[in-house]
Amino acid sequence: MVARRKIKIEGIVQGVGFRPYVFRLAEEKGIRGWITNTPGGIEIEAEGEKVILDEFVKDLPRLAPPLAYIDRIVVSDGMLPQGYEDFSILNSPLGAERTALISPDIATCPDCLRELFSPEDRRFSYPFLNCTNCGPRYSIIQDVPYDRERTTMKVFSMCPLCRAEYEDPHNRRFHAQPNACWECGPRLWLKDEPAAEEEPIRATYHFLKQGKILAIKGLGGFHLAVDATNSEAVKRLRERKGREEKPFAIMVKDVAAIRKFCEVSREEEKALLQPSRPIVLLRKRPTPLISEQVAPNNKFLGVFLPYTPLQALFFSFDEEKDGKPLVLVMTSGNLSEEPIAYWNEEAERRLGRIADLFLLHNREIHVRADDSVVRVVADQEMILRRSRGYAPKPIRVSSPARARILGTGAELKNTVCLYKGQNAFLSQHIGDLENYETLAYFQETVHHLERILEIQPEAVAFDLHPGYLSTQYALSREGLEKMPIQHHHAHLCSAMAEHQLEGDCLGIVCDGTGYGTDGKIWGCEFLVGGYLDFHRFGHLKYIPLPGGQVSIKKPYRMALSYLYAIFGESLDELSLCQRLPGEEVRVVKRLLESGFNSPMVSSMGRLFDAVSSLLQIRDEVTFEGQAALELEMAVEEGWEGHYEYGLERGPEGTIIDPIPLILGIIEGLQAGVSAARIATSFHNTVALFLLEVAEQMTKETGLNRVILSGGVFQNVYLLERLRKGLMEAGLTPIVHQRVPANDGGIALGQVAIANARLAGP
Ligand code: ZN
Ligand code: ZN
Ligand code: FE
Repeated sequence: MVARRKIKIEGIVQGVGFRPYVFRLAEEKGIRGWITNTPGGIEIEAEGEKVILDEFVKDLPRLAPPLAYIDRIVVSDGMLPQGYEDFSILNSPLGAERTALISPDIATCPDCLRELFSPEDRRFSYPFLNCTNCGPRYSIIQDVPYDRERTTMKVFSMCPLCRAEYEDPHNRRFHAQPNACWECGPRLWLKDEPAAEEEPIRATYHFLKQGKILAIKGLGGFHLAVDATNSEAVKRLRERKGREEKPFAIMVKDVAAIRKFCEVSREEEKALLQPSRPIVLLRKRPTPLISEQVAPNNKFLGVFLPYTPLQALFFSFDEEKDGKPLVLVMTSGNLSEEPIAYWNEEAERRLGRIADLFLLHNREIHVRADDSVVRVVADQEMILRRSRGYAPKPIRVSSPARARILGTGAELKNTVCLYKGQNAFLSQHIGDLENYETLAYFQETVHHLERILEIQPEAVAFDLHPGYLSTQYALSREGLEKMPIQHHHAHLCSAMAEHQLEGDCLGIVCDGTGYGTDGKIWGCEFLVGGYLDFHRFGHLKYIPLPGGQVSIKKPYRMALSYLYAIFGESLDELSLCQRLPGEEVRVVKRLLESGFNSPMVSSMGRLFDAVSSLLQIRDEVTFEGQAALELEMAVEEGWEGHYEYGLERGPEGTIIDPIPLILGIIEGLQAGVSAARIATSFHNTVALFLLEVAEQMTKETGLNRVILSGGVFQNVYLLERLRKGLMEAGLTPIVHQRVPANDGGIALGQVAIANARLAGP
């Protein structure tokens, strides 16, 4: 029996080869009818034998091209057959593309790689080949609707062969906007190296092997590349870039090469190979192959695979002499703390003192995006930095937006978010809003996203912290309803929104810094609530942060603060104080005595800092979270010790007092217990008190879902231990997966809360 169906598909279904894909599928199955782009996405009318038609509908999402992202499919039937004779692609009605979603940049697909390495192919070793299934998107789009005229590819006019592919619905390059070839597309050159004109990539490869630092223009910005097996070269890069110890990511040819120096589980392999090609944190294997300089004091390495044709070509020159594969440090092309460079002249100016040579090309990057970072925990992928390959793909949320809302995020690891319909468009990672360059990048990103997503916000949600530049920006936006959001409430709701949870949840939010409703600095918070509101059930006991914000770079100051709380004036006799310059100890003591410039904090991050310093693991840091990270790295798996802690339920809620814990650590140090065991017992104790409060919250509220959010939960040992404890206690722990647990997820929480407030209770 012949039947007819109307199928509507919403999501990223335009500019990703969806129409030719449906066309081919229909032809294959003998389905007749048509397909067209619509304002919401795509519409299909399909007619054929009922059994085959059902199969067609079922296969549609299953076999969809890799770049497609399907939000929703609505199938209506019961219509009389029209007697269509064939299947056709109809022209889009005017304005059709205007609300379609924009795809992120995607790694070179297997078909393109095959062509890249086939000597008989006309795109053999062409570093910019791509198709509808892969290549640049977000980074080259200047405006919507998405077609070549509004991308940075507009300056290249397609040659007849490329044009023919572009117009042929049977071709993989049908409507592939960045389509290009040797004849008509972008070019590559090694600056000031005329000798390398013929083969710039091979020349670059040899310079890298000689230990040179190369600035390489990529997909979302410049990379600084250097041979990761060459300690001298890596050290030079660190010095020039002003990045003392923060780990570098490395790129290698394939998973087999990674296995030479890292453990790779099946899930991790999947994470490495996915089309977004993120940096994946992998456990190091003991091998002298990679320079210790790449990720000092770290059990993990950030590793990723080539994702552009250019990168794939680098590795194709490598002959792996002496079983030593090419391993490249590939770090964002910037001076420490600044955003990634992306224009040729700008990069030459900003990176001129870092790079020995520049590998440039003339395809302009319109929007920057750093590499994304993920890790696999308990077989689940967890994103740490959401950027290239993910943005501007929306996070689907459960409640429709009541207004168009902009969330401006927090201060560190900033991202912004635009909310419309049921989509929350979280931007790429912007960085720490601490300098002019990053602030400019932040503003550019907000404006560009508003433009290409066509979302003119009516309300703006921002952090309660009056000093954040993201807050000041929000306040400066005229005509928008202003909605301040408490930082840890935003963390809680970021995870809720990501998992489409409604109602009330319990929240354990642990991070370094967040402005509280009482004007103090929060950071280990027990919350009960949902989008509309929250109640602070309890927190870590307040303690002064002597010297304020600047002391975050000096964890020993927090150690002194805890010691002062215990020993008062006589703290000088402790061995820690003998290690530190006497003047520093005196300054901190004076600050603590007077309370001058010593804000009260309930921060888990600062507690980790204090312990890291007490154990002589880290007294001063060169990047955010370093002391806590190295404390985690010291953990001895399997050690089950723990310490005492105080827990009081009073008028201020449940207060955890870590003083008994600090005393336990001091006793341990005096008894000569190893730093590894003390660090482990400390982690175990933190998991214990978080669990105890969670059980108390459940008992008092009857709620069962426990959200774990905040940057501290990037600590895998703590996260896993607490998660296990919660499950054994019959609770339901909920952790971040697609949105970072750190402040990179704040903007999502902000818009979700603002939306609930707009509706009212
Ligand atoms: Zn491709
Ligand atoms: Zn061409
Ligand atoms: Fe935070």
